Amino acid sequence: MDKIALFGGKPVREKKIFYGHQLIEDDDIRAVSDVLKSDYLTCGPKIDELEQKLCEITGAKYAVVVSNGTAALHVACMAVGVTAGDEVITTPITFAASANCAAYCGAKPVFADINPETYNIDPAKIKEKINARTKAVVAVDFTGQAVEADDIAEICHDNGLIFIEDAAHSIGTKYKGRSVGTLADITTFSFHPVKTVTSGEGGAVLTNDYELYKKIVLASHHGITHEVEEMRDKNPEGPWYYEEIALGYNYRMTDFQAALLLSQLKKLDRFSKRRKEIVDRYNKAFEEIPEIFVQKEIPESDTTRHLYIIQLVLDKLSCSRREFFDAMAAENVQCQVHYVPVYWFPYYEDMGYKKGLCPEAEKMYRSVMSIPLYPAMTDQEVDDVIKAVKKLIEYYRK
Ligand SMILES: *Cc1c(COP(=O)(O)O)cnc(C)c1O
Repeated sequence: MDKIALFGGKPVREKKIFYGHQLIEDDDIRAVSDVLKSDYLTCGPKIDELEQKLCEITGAKYAVVVSNGTAALHVACMAVGVTAGDEVITTPITFAASANCAAYCGAKPVFADINPETYNIDPAKIKEKINARTKAVVAVDFTGQAVEADDIAEICHDNGLIFIEDAAHSIGTKYKGRSVGTLADITTFSFHPVKTVTSGEGGAVLTNDYELYKKIVLASHHGITHEVEEMRDKNPEGPWYYEEIALGYNYRMTDFQAALLLSQLKKLDRFSKRRKEIVDRYNKAFEEIPEIFVQKEIPESDTTRHLYIIQLVLDKLSCSRREFFDAMAAENVQCQVHYVPVYWFPYYEDMGYKKGLCPEAEKMYRSVMSIPLYPAMTDQEVDDVIKAVKKLIEYYRK
C-alpha cells in the first residue's frame, strides 16, 4: 500500500510520525511509583489532591474524578436526571461517548448540525431541535476550541435545559478569559493518552452547583453514602454502616493514576504553549494554500488545541480524501480522521437515524484529516509534516 502514492520516490520523513502521542517524563514515572509504594492504591489522598487541583486550575467549585471521560459524561447525565423519554442534543462530529451518555440513561440522542467553519455545534441548530422532551445539551469543544458557550448557556437557560460541556479536548482553553470548567452547568474532561494531559484512563466532572455535585459523587460511587444526614436510618448501628440511597456505579480512578495526572497538570501550561506554537506554524504554512481550508478560530476562545485538522478543498484537487490520507502515510505521516458522524454507526442506524441528517457535518467529515499535533514534536517534525502536505498538494493540484 505504501507504494500507492509515494511521489518522488522518497518519503519526506524516514520515520513514521503519528497524529498524537502522550509525553511521559521521569517525574511522572516517579509520581506513580511513589504511590505504588504507599498505603493507598485507590480511595487515597491523591484523589482529593487531584480534585482540588482541578478546581484550582479551572476555577470550578467542585470536581469529581472518575475512571474515564465516558464515565464522566454518564454520571453528568445521571446527575441531571436524564431518563427514558428525554432527549439530549449533541453534535455528530464527536467521539461516540458524547451521544452514548444519553442512551445509557434511556434517553434519545438528538443531533444538531455543526458550523462548517468552526466545526463546533451551531447554537442556531440547537434551538431548532428543542422540544418538550429535551432535557440537556452536550456541547463538545471540538479540537479544543471552546463552543459558543454564552449563546448555548442562554439557550439552555431560556428553555430550562442543562448545559453539559464535553471538554475532553479542551483542558487549558479559555473562553472570554474564563477557563473551561466554569462555562457550563457541568463540564467533563477525559485524560486518555491522546488528550492534552493523561492519567492513562481517566476523567473528571466539574460543576459550581452543590446539588449536582452531590449527585455526581453518588452516581460514580455506587450510590453509597457514609454521611448520617443523608441516610434513611438516622441512628446507624455503628461506624461500619453505610447506605445505598440511589443506583450508582464504580467509576473510581486509582491513586496512582491521580498521581500521574497531578504530575502532568504541572506541565499543562508548557504543553499548552507548545501546542499553540505548533498550531501557529501550521496556520502560517497553510493559510496561503487555496486547496486547504483550516478550521476558523473564534476570537472568544484562547485555545489549547488537541487536534489540528486540514480540510481538503476536493474540487480543486485530483485526488480523493482517501488517496491523500494514504499518500500522507506513504510520506510517513500517519494522519487520523475526526470523526465519522456518530449517527452513521450501525447502532444508531438501527435506531432509525439516517444519513443526510446533518449535511454540514457529513460534508466536513468527507474532506478532513487530523495531522500530527503533540507537545513532544520538534520543529523539524512539524516542518516535515508541512513539507509532506505541500508536496502532495503540488502533485494533486488540478
Ligand atoms: C476522548 C473523548 C471522550 C471519551 O473519553 P474516554 O476517556 O476515552 O472515555 C468523550 N468525548 C470526546 C469528545 C472525546 O474526545
